[in-house]
Amino acid sequence: MALVSAKDMLNKAAAGGYAVGQFNINNLEWTKAILQTAQEQNSPVILGVSEGAGKYMCGFKTVAAMVKAMVESLGITVPVALHLDHGSYEGAKACIEAGFSSIMFDGSHYPIDENIAKTTELKGICDQLGLSLEAEVGAIGGEEDGVIGSGEVADPAECKMISDLGVTMLAAGIGNIHGKYPANWKGLNFEVLSQIHDVTNGKPLVLHGGTGIPADMIKRAISLGVAKINVNTECQLAFQEATRKYIEEGKDLQGKGFDPRKLLAPGTQAIKDCVKEKMELFGSIGKA
Ligand SMILES: [Zn+2]
Repeated sequence: MALVSAKDMLNKAAAGGYAVGQFNINNLEWTKAILQTAQEQNSPVILGVSEGAGKYMCGFKTVAAMVKAMVESLGITVPVALHLDHGSYEGAKACIEAGFSSIMFDGSHYPIDENIAKTTELKGICDQLGLSLEAEVGAIGGEEDGVIGSGEVADPAECKMISDLGVTMLAAGIGNIHGKYPANWKGLNFEVLSQIHDVTNGKPLVLHGGTGIPADMIKRAISLGVAKINVNTECQLAFQEATRKYIEEGKDLQGKGFDPRKLLAPGTQAIKDCVKEKMELFGSIGKA
């Protein structure tokens, strides 16, 4: 199946009271693990690629070619969107050209007028090509590729302005942050999420920083219009823990344990387990 825009899967999720996971990819093993799990669980899936990860994987064209070929050779039939995560204006254009099926333009650090102008232009291009577009209002806290946000809470009036441009989905800061949550984290701001949900008329909302948000908060967020949840750090931690265990147990020193296909296998399985667990929590299993 060819890559699809995230529009139908997210509209269905918003209407059905569940969320689709965006799982960020870092290499071949990551991509394979996420695609296989989505197929096994009959779940739609969004593969996220940050600009940094795109650079690491030798550019957006390499990523798009790898994902398309892998979808074909693994016989993946569930809907798969290939999505630029936190794109700059230039990055968005590069991914459109490279064949991504979904784009996030993160204009949250611009004044609202400039965010609107750039989002509007990119929306025109995405509409023409049938791509989905995610916009952002109110920076998400934590660190993403060296950009440190302070964990703002978005202004619902600004969210309405950007949502009314006709973007596919909207990311809004509601106290969520990227990476691990600190012990003194105050939790998600459901009052603001509820206001954003009210003024955006059922627009699929996106929750970034899905790692470590307690399950009850995730469920409440989904009930208030969150239809896409981004997970990145959690898969990285799962991969790291399993790989560390393999080496600490000396398995890389036994037989052909040094073979990368063996060395990376436990970490890859750990990513699969992590993705499955998230799909269960988000309610996307069987929704392909
Ligand atoms: Zn994010």
